[in-house]
Amino acid sequence: MHPFAYVAPVTVEEAVAVLDKHGDRARPLAGGTDLLVKTRANVWELDAVVDIKNIPELMTVTVGNDGLSIGAGVPCYQIYENSEVAAGYPCIVDGTDIIGGIQIQSRAALGGNLCNAAPSADGVCPLIVHSAVAHIAGPGGNREVAVEDFCTGPSQTVLKKGELLVSMSMPKPPANFGAAYTRFIPRNEMDIAVAGVAVSLVLDPSGQNFESARIALASVGPVPILATAAGDSLAGKPVNDESIAAAAALARDAASPITDMRGTIEQRRQLIEVLTGRMINKAIERARG
Ligand SMILES: Cc1cc2nc3c(=O)[nH]c(=O)nc-3n(C[C@H](O)[C@H](O)[C@H](O)COP(=O)(O)OP(=O)(O)OC[C@H]3O[C@@H](n4cnc5c(N)ncnc54)[C@H](O)[C@@H]3O)c2cc1C
Repeated sequence: MHPFAYVAPVTVEEAVAVLDKHGDRARPLAGGTDLLVKTRANVWELDAVVDIKNIPELMTVTVGNDGLSIGAGVPCYQIYENSEVAAGYPCIVDGTDIIGGIQIQSRAALGGNLCNAAPSADGVCPLIVHSAVAHIAGPGGNREVAVEDFCTGPSQTVLKKGELLVSMSMPKPPANFGAAYTRFIPRNEMDIAVAGVAVSLVLDPSGQNFESARIALASVGPVPILATAAGDSLAGKPVNDESIAAAAALARDAASPITDMRGTIEQRRQLIEVLTGRMINKAIERARG
């Protein structure tokens, strides 16, 4: 492994300055559960690793009337053990409490999951269906990017030279909102998603009709996919098997998977259809309380 400097800044500005100075030869370190594996495998040759865990705003979870904000370095366990997150954002819990096992969750950050940009990432689709926004700091100032636009390819993101993900924020869910995420894996845990689906929806006050929905798909394309047509198809429809089956079929059509050692194209498309139906039903249950 190429020797690198370990830098532990305490402000965003310091971190950005180091990242900007070294360009491709420096990387932020959150939990390190992806970064260290790739660095050991010589995927990158780094001169500096920039530990973000001493920067207060990257290590803070805030829940309020504006919604939820999660610092990019907050480890998964601090997210799913937060009672306010669990009460208001159970889909975020669905994603974070299945990333690896307990040891991984005690280090791995949701921000690291997003920046690693794996199509199979379990944390990203829940963020997408919550309409989360990524807050980015860089040498040119700050900017915001919708999470569905953040990943641009496997291991590729919108981040430019010197840029750092500071946090992800999402609005407070409206009344009659429900959301859920699940994945299919061959084992019970510690495996990479063959396919994953997150759904969020809003029901009308009667609980019998869909007002709106968002559906996001993992592990069935080069990036996590926002299946817009599938989600939009539910708007204004009655809550019944027919509406749900139609949305699930559209989600299947939005998937563009490959065949690899974990699954085939056909299996993955079928999984998306089945999991979408299940997650719509689970989100309905949650929306109805
Ligand atoms: C045994 C094992 C099991 C796993 N199981 C799962 C699983 O079930 N589901 C799943 O989705 N993943 C899984 N992973 C992958 C990994 O744990 C997750 O992707 C995790 O969320 C990464 O977070 P991290 O904080 O460790 O990221 P790091 O390794 O610290 O960083 C990942 C990447 O993001 C960059 N980065 C980190 N923070 C920032 C930032 N603030 N700004 C810009 N770039 C940044 C890093 O430079 C690096 O390129 C597993 C990994 C292992 C080793």
